[in-house]
Amino acid sequence: MGKIDIINVEKFYGSYHALREVSLSIEEGEFMVLVGPSGCGKSTLLRSIAGLEDISGGVISVNDQPINDLSPQERNIAMVFQNYALYPHLTVKDNLAFSLKIHKFDKAEIEKRIANAAEMLGLTDYLSRRPRALSGGQRQRVAMGRAMVREPTAFLFDEPLSNLDARLRVEMRSEIRNLQRTLGTTAVYVTHDQVEAMTMGDRIAVVNQGGLEQVGTPLDLYRDPNNMFVAGFIGSPPMNFITAQASGGVATLKDGQQIMLPVRAEGEIKIGLRPEHIFLDKQEHHHSLNCSESRHFDLGSSLQFFFDLCGEEIEVSASRDVRTHTKAEVNIHFDPADLLVFGPDTNRIR
Ligand code: ADP
Ligand code: MG
Repeated sequence: MGKIDIINVEKFYGSYHALREVSLSIEEGEFMVLVGPSGCGKSTLLRSIAGLEDISGGVISVNDQPINDLSPQERNIAMVFQNYALYPHLTVKDNLAFSLKIHKFDKAEIEKRIANAAEMLGLTDYLSRRPRALSGGQRQRVAMGRAMVREPTAFLFDEPLSNLDARLRVEMRSEIRNLQRTLGTTAVYVTHDQVEAMTMGDRIAVVNQGGLEQVGTPLDLYRDPNNMFVAGFIGSPPMNFITAQASGGVATLKDGQQIMLPVRAEGEIKIGLRPEHIFLDKQEHHHSLNCSESRHFDLGSSLQFFFDLCGEEIEVSASRDVRTHTKAEVNIHFDPADLLVFGPDTNRIR
């Protein structure tokens, strides 16, 4: 078990700057999620921790010991991949035993660890099958088991659930999380799916263009994003942004409508407002903006509206009981305390 410190890590592929001054401390036993769009450097960072990539600068240490110069085997960190990377010609049992045999564990110890992992993963009855005779979820469990039997310092997961259908993915999220809690092993989990990040992570590190935008608990990132990237990436449906000119505590939209801001700002700003914080029925403390409705969709459990506000699209999630007849002019209502304000550099103004 161990804590992992990533200190000012840089990675270049030729002239391409893939990781930029990445610093992140992962506590012992913590489940850290790296989330960000495709191509932002998540796998590169994970592979650097595993030792599958050489870093170009900085230090990665485990339990305060630098591991930069250790081979992947010497690091004793287990990686679980999206494609499972199982040996198709070996049984489940032999897949689980493979790395232990390489490391010359004695037979009794191998049997014990396999029995233990198979029991925890519900694979006891499948040990003599080959991977092709297993479901996607079972294959993923075998991949997990292969990591577990090594009793590693940490687990690294690179989008392990991407090949599974939506329902199974939701189940496997809880399974992986419960297993990790039971074992108490530090985990770093990569995903591009912010819902997965929100539901699994003790903390989430938001990655963008090779750098870390913000690190925090799921609710920290949702409630208190530092910039427009994090505000727009965390939360579903994504946050709306409204362009305005600010003067003191008042914002003026392009069409002259004014709203009170929760902070003081000057000049061009973006106002962030989440779809779930906009209401179609006015409450006492609510402020209002006049929009025109462009379209709405009935999702069964709720209604999804899109409004036009000065040429910008505003999404609103509404419960089914609001009236659905289309009107040219609509007032949307919100609690001004729910507004976030961002400056021209996209950073939050607090
Ligand atoms: P993610 O996992 O977030 O989708 P990656 O870490 O795989 O992103 O890749 C980050 C960036 O580095 C991408 O632009 C990718 O094209 C580039 N990259 C990854 N591996 C290599 C490589 N071996 N050589 C050159 N560029 C690479
Ligand atoms: Mg990747």
